[in-house]
Amino acid sequence: MTRFPPEPNGYLHIGHAKSICLNFGVAEEFGGRCFLRFDDTNPLREDETYVQAIREDVAWLGFDWGDRLTHASDYFQRLYDCAVTLIRQGSAYVDHLDADQIREYRGTLTAPGRNSPFRDRSVAENLALFERMRRGEFAEGECVLRARIDMASGNINLRDPTLYRIRKVAHQRTGETWCIYPMYDFAHTLSDAFEGITHSLCTLEFEDHRPLYDWLLDQLALPHRPQQIEFSRLNLAFTVTSKRKLNQLVDKGIVAGWDDPRMPTLAGMRRRGYPPEAVREFIRRVGVTKKENTIEMGSLESAVREHLNTHAERRLAVQRPLRVVLENWPAGEIETVTLPNHPADAARGTREVSFGRELYIDADDFHEDPPGKFHRLKPGGEVRLRGAYIIRCEGLERDASGQVVVLRCSVDLDTRSGGSGAARKVKGTIHWVHADSAVPVELRLYDRLFSVADPDEGGDYLQALNPESLVVVSDALAEPALAELAPGETVQLERSGYFTRDARSAEGALVLNRTVSLRDSWAKLEASST
Ligand code: ATP
Ligand code: MG
Repeated sequence: MTRFPPEPNGYLHIGHAKSICLNFGVAEEFGGRCFLRFDDTNPLREDETYVQAIREDVAWLGFDWGDRLTHASDYFQRLYDCAVTLIRQGSAYVDHLDADQIREYRGTLTAPGRNSPFRDRSVAENLALFERMRRGEFAEGECVLRARIDMASGNINLRDPTLYRIRKVAHQRTGETWCIYPMYDFAHTLSDAFEGITHSLCTLEFEDHRPLYDWLLDQLALPHRPQQIEFSRLNLAFTVTSKRKLNQLVDKGIVAGWDDPRMPTLAGMRRRGYPPEAVREFIRRVGVTKKENTIEMGSLESAVREHLNTHAERRLAVQRPLRVVLENWPAGEIETVTLPNHPADAARGTREVSFGRELYIDADDFHEDPPGKFHRLKPGGEVRLRGAYIIRCEGLERDASGQVVVLRCSVDLDTRSGGSGAARKVKGTIHWVHADSAVPVELRLYDRLFSVADPDEGGDYLQALNPESLVVVSDALAEPALAELAPGETVQLERSGYFTRDARSAEGALVLNRTVSLRDSWAKLEASST
């Protein structure tokens, strides 16, 4: 029995994916079960919208909690009863020191703490005071309930940790029922025990909390005894995975929300078009250890690329349209060209696109005075149009500013792909769209949100933002089939990258998010930074 215990104070990120895959994965592997438990013990920072988003994200990743969706707040009464038991046993007390004093009395790593003057209150007095805390008779911060363990312990977590504090705010689920809320360590340990968790898998920063975890289990007669086991967090280069920082990016409007496709959140990755299978495969490759490490972003991107290479259909679109007129093609004559949807998987079928006298190619595929190995189109040069004919550039037209706006070309009618003249070879093949039938499309070229491997390195991650993390191309043209793409569906735009139709754009608007480019343009940079 395992659990994934998110606090509903933000969206899930790629680090959480590791914990989700581990907890749900281990349960699946050993015929167990996994709970999705919301750790909703701090109503100040938490919100139901996060609960909803987290449920969607876990389901999207491919995991099913069945009827095991719980909240720490489901156990508020049981937790309160356990606190009363601790008081009865003399192992918890109400402390009237304020927060600063508690900190001061706690001591340091090298100096032991001192006992609070309220530590030796009688059981009866503590029971009465705790009951009054619950009834709201004290102000926030006036007192807390603390475990009575050992102020001289070498482990600061055992120096009478706080178990309950007063918070006079309504809770998203329990409303005004409670004005005292349990601390994480207390609520988490006991929730594990209530749910019969056998393996409480958590990240390494909780290693020092394990003695407290075990102490609580020792003190209380609980139906189950869970065991805490730690593993290292997933850190990913070129991004941040702290909810506080992600929250800041949203609040400051640096990104367009938690599901901005540049965010390392599961919602962002979904909107960008990352397949859940690829995220899981990436997590599998990362593995689980106790060693702190940082994984390269390229590793996640290549898992995405590999999956999409197999699963995404191919389509044609031009980012910077350059008009091509085929001078020897009869005006008004339109031919149908059949293109495979996937070069390696005939079962994915074909589609038909029209071909005629006026076409568009990508401006990048033409060069007036190209360097040596340019195998695309140049004046007097030839190139094959994907799935169609070989054309030759015979002349060009410029606008007033001198920019090339039209290519006058001839087409070799004997070279139709699949036909008898298809054998004639030229060095380059480029993509194109037919001018009459092309549909306008907005391409959002997403790149990494940060331009350095460790955004925190310079002290302020906001200084490390990549100014080109989003480039919008608003006048691209695509073959008509693109208009049929379902929101969230991904295709490869040939020679360009994988793109996913944005699921949040206005109906009818054809907006594609670049999921990942075809090749890793960051590989060199990353190699030199590690
Ligand atoms: P914060 O970012 O504010 O420190 P958190 O990431 O710990 O918060 P939680 O909602 O408490 O947020 O996390 C839920 C679970 O996910 C915890 O069990 C936590 O250990 C795990 N987790 C969080 N970040 C990572 C990470 N980077 N790698 C692996 N597991 C993680
Ligand atoms: Mg946490």
